[in-house]
Amino acid sequence: MRRLMGYHSSERGKRMSDKFEDVAQRIRTYWTEVFPVERGLRSTGIIEIPDGDVSYFEDFLKSRNLSYIMITAGALNQERKKRGQDPLRDYYAENLFYIGDEMRKVKTLIECDYNNDFFCVGMMLGYPDCCVASILQRGTESVDIQKLKGKFIMISHIPCSENCQRSAEYDQRLQNDKAAFLKEKAAEAGAG
Ligand SMILES: [Zn+2]
Repeated sequence: MRRLMGYHSSERGKRMSDKFEDVAQRIRTYWTEVFPVERGLRSTGIIEIPDGDVSYFEDFLKSRNLSYIMITAGALNQERKKRGQDPLRDYYAENLFYIGDEMRKVKTLIECDYNNDFFCVGMMLGYPDCCVASILQRGTESVDIQKLKGKFIMISHIPCSENCQRSAEYDQRLQNDKAAFLKEKAAEAGAG
């Protein structure tokens, strides 16, 4: 399932810290889906990666000791159909990375996603119970997602309300962690 791609020779001489300096620019959902798993704020994440970034992202995950399994959207939907579930078509990239701090969580997350079990997916992704429950009750079609997400900067889930307390707490924590991380980085760069 994984593509075999060689390293570019120009990358060989670079230090590890340099190699992934641009991760937040290259991986568009880095701050909301990868960083929280790195920092232990969430156990798992799902990240869509275009073909050109697959090998880069795999190297990044290995360097961070994160567990992952890559599945193409096509293979995911094929398995869903086999299980009598509807395929989902709203992917922007063909490669889905299921990542986590432990492989058994990654595998559980994938099982949930094969079965279109959104309760399980939401819980595995660490979304607040109130928000997961509200999606299951009202679906997503009649919901103004932009408006609900309005106040929050770093959440990837659809909050149960604009004033969801648990989403606000998570959002704030993640913002603080990001600010602390960037400050550390800047200090390192200054010292180096
Ligand atoms: Zn909520």
